[in-house]
Amino acid sequence: MTTMNIAIFLARDGVLIKDNGLITKEEEIELLPDVGNALVMFALMQYKLIVVSNQPDMARGLLSEDQVRSLHKLIEAKIEQKTSVALDDFFFCPHHPEATVEKYRTGCTCRKPEPGMLLEAAKKHAVDLTKSYIIGDHITDCIAGHKAGCTTVQVLTGVHTEPPIESFSNIDYSYKPDYTCTTLIEAAQWIGNR
Ligand SMILES: [Zn+2]
Repeated sequence: MTTMNIAIFLARDGVLIKDNGLITKEEEIELLPDVGNALVMFALMQYKLIVVSNQPDMARGLLSEDQVRSLHKLIEAKIEQKTSVALDDFFFCPHHPEATVEKYRTGCTCRKPEPGMLLEAAKKHAVDLTKSYIIGDHITDCIAGHKAGCTTVQVLTGVHTEPPIESFSNIDYSYKPDYTCTTLIEAAQWIGNR
């Protein structure tokens, strides 16, 4: 019998690091307060830590795949240095229906609010999605998590509480996450108490 893993799926910008718009340099990576302590709590609870990130800047041709991968290495190193917690994986979606980069111009199944990245991660890491969580700042993160069967937590960092300007009519923005809070540490406490 194989034992399934449990996971916390995390959005990147606005959850782990400050949403500084287009991030290309190490200096622009700022861990949000409390992130270190929250990740330590998750690690103690045996959750795998998997980042799932839409990368519209790749779709726009502003960042290459190599740049995104090296940014993720830097984020990982920063977190590990601060907390000695290692992130387990990063997944990103470079697609967009109106991408300027032709190879990324598609209505894919991985761009949140679609659950593709979570499903792929679950397969790769043998994750039981029903015992796992998504923590995001956008409602679309939570919708993706919900579609994958996870419990959903929205962290309100204050910048993404309104529907995005380029809203898609097929997305139900009225979806209510299972829990809403203001910092990642509150999310960790809620999950720890369940
Ligand atoms: Zn995609």
